[in-house]
Amino acid sequence: MKRIRVAAAAAALMILAGCSGGTSSPRTESQAAAGNWAQPSASGPPASPQATAQAAALAALPEALRNRVPKFGPPPAPTKVTLPGGGGAGWFSAIPTNEKIAFITIDDGWSKDPMALKLFQAANVPITLFLEVNAIKDDPNYFKPLRDLPGVTIEDHTISHPNLKGRSYDFQKHEICGGADKLEQYYGKRPTLFRPPGGTHDATTLKVVHDCGMKAAFYWHETTDHGVVFYQSVHKVQPGDIILMHFRPRFVDDFLAVLKAIHKAGLTPARLEDYIP
Ligand SMILES: [Zn+2]
Repeated sequence: MKRIRVAAAAAALMILAGCSGGTSSPRTESQAAAGNWAQPSASGPPASPQATAQAAALAALPEALRNRVPKFGPPPAPTKVTLPGGGGAGWFSAIPTNEKIAFITIDDGWSKDPMALKLFQAANVPITLFLEVNAIKDDPNYFKPLRDLPGVTIEDHTISHPNLKGRSYDFQKHEICGGADKLEQYYGKRPTLFRPPGGTHDATTLKVVHDCGMKAAFYWHETTDHGVVFYQSVHKVQPGDIILMHFRPRFVDDFLAVLKAIHKAGLTPARLEDYIP
């Protein structure tokens, strides 16, 4: 049944794209299953608006930066994780998978580098932004063109970035639901995922995340700062890893370091939301 739906979606996509002949490539199937974005291929059907935008964005970058943006193949069709029952949200430091994928997550939102949009367009990869309301409220519009890119999604990271562990249900609800409410107000879409500030959480956090209408909360396996990726154990990004970075002053170097680390490990960025049922 699923196979039929995917095939039908791929066929519909080919019709929509005016694609003439040829077989449906893995990219097309992955695109149909994964939503509305994919890396352009070097050959094959005419360039999509997205591929055209990526080429233009790459061309517009200063050469020194352009040469640092790796090219990625398309991610495979996603397989959903299993979420726990019992009224709590799921908790993940990585997505359990053997597929050659990793997940880029960017937190807070204090530093609003004008290069982010150009780099996102040039890289053309899925990215999840966990935004803190207090960090973005001086200029929420900065994130709108980022959100409008295919594969980029805004998710919840509280109002004021407190340590949640050990705090009351009501305190956590105010921060977690309140953050989702505000982001929905700003961006017209309610978050479905959550990252607790500093990764600290307890059972109440996961219950509140669930009660606030979200499905899962996330830790990470790698962090990034000053243009360097820090590993927790093995010095290589592993399949399913979630990589954390922030909107910091060294945004350009941090983002390029994350892309390089994923590329060096032979992985391709995938969209976190596509793995959550
Ligand atoms: Zn944070």
